[in-house]
Amino acid sequence: MTSPFITLARPAIQSMQAYQVGKPIEEARRELGIAHFIKLASNENPRGPSPAVLAALATASQDINRYPDGNGFYLKQILAERHGVDASAITLGAGSNDILELIASAYLDGDTSAIYSQYGFLVYALATARSGAESIVVDACNFGHDLSAMAGAVKNNTRVIYIANPNNPTGTYTHHNDLVALLDAVPASVLVVLDEAYCEYINKADYPDGIALQKRYANLIITRTFSKAYGLGGLRVGYSITDPIIADMLNRVRQPFNVTSLSLAAAQAALDDNAYLAESVALNDAGMQQLEAGFSALGLNYIESAANFITFETPNLASEMNQQLLQLGVIVRPVANYGLNNHLRVSIGLEDENAQFLQALTQILEPLKSDK
Ligand SMILES: *Cc1c(COP(=O)(O)O)cnc(C)c1O
Repeated sequence: MTSPFITLARPAIQSMQAYQVGKPIEEARRELGIAHFIKLASNENPRGPSPAVLAALATASQDINRYPDGNGFYLKQILAERHGVDASAITLGAGSNDILELIASAYLDGDTSAIYSQYGFLVYALATARSGAESIVVDACNFGHDLSAMAGAVKNNTRVIYIANPNNPTGTYTHHNDLVALLDAVPASVLVVLDEAYCEYINKADYPDGIALQKRYANLIITRTFSKAYGLGGLRVGYSITDPIIADMLNRVRQPFNVTSLSLAAAQAALDDNAYLAESVALNDAGMQQLEAGFSALGLNYIESAANFITFETPNLASEMNQQLLQLGVIVRPVANYGLNNHLRVSIGLEDENAQFLQALTQILEPLKSDK
């Protein structure tokens, strides 16, 4: 019998499923009884936090009896200066996930619709479903967003288009010209959310400068995070750059103290540590080459990625290979919840973690080869 606590929930919630997080190392240890794991499942910075961040946290921890600055004054100042925008354009979130949810809370309800891509970051589907709005899912093109089809899918009641650039879990990215074409095609009443969670890793000429475009298109929303290249996934801090009136709307639905004092201090310190960021990006570039070379040597297809992870095709069911990798102490990310049953996503790790992952793959694939 269905529990009344399900049927009492809002209809939009009854048909939803909770977001599946990457398996924590502790959980894998408990379940499998294997002492040593490497976790390449959540696109985290593998290097550990910057020493400057740790020092800032030590100082800020003296004051954790106090509520944080609910307006994040200093962090906004630094971000505003860094990006050449007014502080009033910035909204802070507990991770950029929080911002994606704030947009849905402020702009979506049962009378509206939101558009996102097949294989688009799952939080778009969740935020849309939770709001009760209609989800318009547009078929992917070579695993990436099909921006002209997305523009073509706009209905009268469409309020939001979510674009991940690059996208998780596919690693594909949207080119400048295609984004501009979409921005020119859709009505100014449609908010275009450009989720730039991995932008720090990209160095490509045709990658759009979202913040510059935001200055031209008032309906464009840029979201960024400290969780990936800045190495602060555990602290939950991200932000958006928008028209100041949109920022006002987001602030109306935001919890007043959504970003902790420790997160604010850490983000400020992280922004100052240019060396940490540069080293993280360089490590990622090298790790990406290492994994691409490894996949090629093993004859595995992969989706070319512009981010800090790569999604590859598995010869058999991905769930099988995922279990085999776990048995060998490697945690990667199944993406069957995206409808990708023959792919796994692996985050770029430290050099020896990447090597250990490739070694495990080799071990798994050996018996398959000799079968042939
Ligand atoms: C990781 C990720 C985020 C950011 O998550 P946070 O809440 O900032 O930790 C946003 N969008 C995409 C596509 C991501 O993969």
